[in-house]
Amino acid sequence: MGEDVANEKDALEGQASLFGDIDEKGASAAPARPATSPRARAAELNRLLNVYAYRYYALDDPAVTDAEFDRLLRELQAIEAVHPELVTPDSYTQRVGGYVSEQFEPVRHAQRMYSIDDAMNLAELDEWLARTDEALGSTPDHPVAYTCELKIDGLGVALTYRDAQFVRAATRGDGTTGENVTANVLTIKDVPHALTADGLARVTDGGLGQSIEVRGEVYMPKHSFVRLNEDADAAGREPFANPRNAAAGSLRQKDPKITAHRDLETFIYAVADEAPLAVSTQWQFLEWLRSCGFNVNPNARRCTSAHEVHDFCAEALAHRDELDYDIDGVVVKVDSFAGQEALGFTARAPRWAIAFKFPPEEKRTVLREIRIQVGRTGVLTPVAEFDPVVVAGSTIARATLHNLDEIRRKNVRVGDTIVVHKAGDVIPEVVGPVLELRPADATEFHMPTHCPSCGSPVVREEGEVAFRCVSIDCPAQAHERLAHWVSRKAMDIDGLGDELIGKLVAAGLVSDVADFYDNLTESALAACPTGRVSVSGDDILVGKVIAAKVMDQIAESRERGLARVLFGLGIRHVGEQVARSLAGEFGSLVELMAVDEERIAAVEGVGPKIAHGVREFFSVEENLAVVERLREAGVVLEEEHGEQAPQTLAGLTFVLTGTLERHKRDDAKAALQAFGAKVSGSVSKKTSYVIAGAAAGSKLTKAQQLGVPVLDEDALEQILATGAVPAAGESEGANE
Ligand code: NAD
Repeated sequence: MGEDVANEKDALEGQASLFGDIDEKGASAAPARPATSPRARAAELNRLLNVYAYRYYALDDPAVTDAEFDRLLRELQAIEAVHPELVTPDSYTQRVGGYVSEQFEPVRHAQRMYSIDDAMNLAELDEWLARTDEALGSTPDHPVAYTCELKIDGLGVALTYRDAQFVRAATRGDGTTGENVTANVLTIKDVPHALTADGLARVTDGGLGQSIEVRGEVYMPKHSFVRLNEDADAAGREPFANPRNAAAGSLRQKDPKITAHRDLETFIYAVADEAPLAVSTQWQFLEWLRSCGFNVNPNARRCTSAHEVHDFCAEALAHRDELDYDIDGVVVKVDSFAGQEALGFTARAPRWAIAFKFPPEEKRTVLREIRIQVGRTGVLTPVAEFDPVVVAGSTIARATLHNLDEIRRKNVRVGDTIVVHKAGDVIPEVVGPVLELRPADATEFHMPTHCPSCGSPVVREEGEVAFRCVSIDCPAQAHERLAHWVSRKAMDIDGLGDELIGKLVAAGLVSDVADFYDNLTESALAACPTGRVSVSGDDILVGKVIAAKVMDQIAESRERGLARVLFGLGIRHVGEQVARSLAGEFGSLVELMAVDEERIAAVEGVGPKIAHGVREFFSVEENLAVVERLREAGVVLEEEHGEQAPQTLAGLTFVLTGTLERHKRDDAKAALQAFGAKVSGSVSKKTSYVIAGAAAGSKLTKAQQLGVPVLDEDALEQILATGAVPAAGESEGANE
């Protein structure tokens, strides 16, 4: 973080004033508030907060946005400030929000886990800083120091180490009692199983016999969240509202195997009891955590003035979109542990910390249409089409509404003025309608009874939220399946864009993936309209030159190998990674088709649900016929022509970042994986090497901070040529 701070500070000041005017934004989805007595309103607010908190904490399925929730909580706090007689011990303002599910063994926290009070704008932040400075006797010569950290939007957990060994993990729960999620946390790769000798050297008695409880956040990286929700949509499951809920839902699974496949990570930042540690400030403590092997967020700063704290908040806001994890603000903490102790806690939060919350970036627009998209598995997905608006740096004009239940829950109608934002800063989402502005002719949405593409009746299977078209001949599904087959991560056939596939389907030239190989001819393709028209209004045809190139690409794609074929076939639940595992395990399609469901489920990273999807796919006659035609057309249905590259990079994890000039990122990734390497989206201390191209940003910085070796593109080239990482200095320009 660093540049553009002045501009961002201006933006922050501007947005801060909007906080005072939150009805304009986040709260706009709420119905207008009826006039009522303070007592009745406080009771109503408590009721609403409890309902919403249950949805959020227990079900990981929030009913309202965080901004709306915070607005209601603030309203209750304001009423209680004027009417202290209304403050009851069970008021939502007096407790730590959370929930303890009976599906986990309860864990009573030896030291309470608290929430953190919010500052909703810079004025509130300054007020807290001034109050804290005064309470701790700050002077210009001896200013109070604050540690500023990013507020990670995840799920609070406590990790206990006894005799330096990891023994237990618990969620925050209601602050007093949490849930025992040890088995699930054990699947998170960056959680150390033992404290390092370095860390133990700074614990009284060397840490042996000590029980040390550190605390932090379990989160889901944004790229994993996007993938998880894409999978959910394709499979007709409920998507998660944001990465925080996805992390909570993934961690609080009965079956740790599911957690293991959800790509969770941690940032650790607190300790239950600092007494046994030879550190006296939060800043030193973060250092200690790093030396123990914990993942500690690199973006933290020790500040000694309000000005420096503002700068940090402005930088965090400016760079928030570049991070691969969601943050919802900055936590400012009194740095000295003695100062923290002097200030103590209220019923729900420490007095020595404040969370400066970022303004939610929400915009209003008008919902023009709800269009139905038919996916390759036949799921009908309603998509909101609205007037284009700029949100978090890009223009958005559509957002999935996922399914009918979601539309009902959100209560949106075509013609409504709606509030939109980006969930987890990445996925466009409709927050809800502005009911005060609902026009009289706003129309309620109904799911079509027949597929808009093929006219077949639509069905809703029991227990599913999705409506599906189950016709095997549905052109929309065919279109999606064909587009998936040619996509970069599947058979990687260049030149077959979405529009052209539509034309090929309409012309009856292709209807399944085998048609590319045994039905499509160069002359038919050359004569096919591209979907564009010339100035004179004539169809522009593909033409001979392009047709020849595309046919070459199609021919070349025969050699991609089994993993790509399995992914390209679009088998339910079979993503890129699973396809690779299945191809690696069985080696050929014949072998995979010969084994039973149980055998498939036993493959690392697969499990019963995926295995069922695979068996189901190969029990459909039409699918078997397509596979047979692929075989006859010479498409390789074995892995790597049966010859696997030597697994010389097994056990190594690479992260690719920045712009590579000579390699496509996905190709480099696949080539590294072919040598047995793991390629991850984020840098941690478990990363073996970061390969940095031009303009590498935060991942490179993190690698340097963690001491992870950094290689350049020349080194990458050597690795791909030799299957081995060059020794330091061997590759010109390698900056290890
Ligand atoms: P919080 O999440 O706003 O803040 C406290 C928590 O921040 C801590 O417990 C800790 O887990 C976390 N945290 C992240 N980074 C940290 C760091 N560097 N240092 C210290 N702590 C850090 O408070 P809360 O009480 O857990 O939850 C309230 C939040 O949940 C609000 O944002 C609220 O909007 C949201 N919420 C939303 C709904 C809803 O329906 N949308 C319902 C309930 C709560």
